[in-house]
Amino acid sequence: MILELDKLSNDTEQVAADEVVTFEDVDGKENRIHCHIELNIRRVAETYLIHADLDGRFATPCHRCLEPAECHIKSSFDLVVKKASTDAKVPPVDEDARDDAMVSLPAGATELSLDHLIFENLVSEIPMQIRCRDECKGLCSSCGVNLNTAECDCQPHTDPRWNALRSLGRRDDTPSK
Ligand SMILES: [Zn+2]
Ligand SMILES: [Zn+2]
Repeated sequence: MILELDKLSNDTEQVAADEVVTFEDVDGKENRIHCHIELNIRRVAETYLIHADLDGRFATPCHRCLEPAECHIKSSFDLVVKKASTDAKVPPVDEDARDDAMVSLPAGATELSLDHLIFENLVSEIPMQIRCRDECKGLCSSCGVNLNTAECDCQPHTDPRWNALRSLGRRDDTPSK
């Protein structure tokens, strides 16, 4: 998303946009996040105070049952952009000196790309495990059947709480040295 600074008025403005942000997941697969971006920009002379709200969605297989699922990501960030005044001599922007919350631009600059910040803020909010629904039962670990839609004849799925008790019992049985 490119912000055209010289088109902003000397006041508060709302700018909205829809963008597709792509990222590679751990398997190297490309995912496309459809993101709605809302910017609230307050301009005071050559300083811009930007608040961005991000609302993104992407389709992915459920991490438990592998059926299609949708991941919904919400994120936001704040940014201060300072443009050098026209009468000052300013060195070109040092990319290394830029930090995420504050950007300094040379006097002539008219555009600012928010792509990097939008990407970073979206990707950092992606949950480790994405499920098609909260109560997804996943796949049977023995036969692979989708337990949301079918039952299987594998060993009874014991309540995991009993497993915990059972392993406690086993620990008690081991002879002490
Ligand atoms: Zn699922
Ligand atoms: Zn099974």
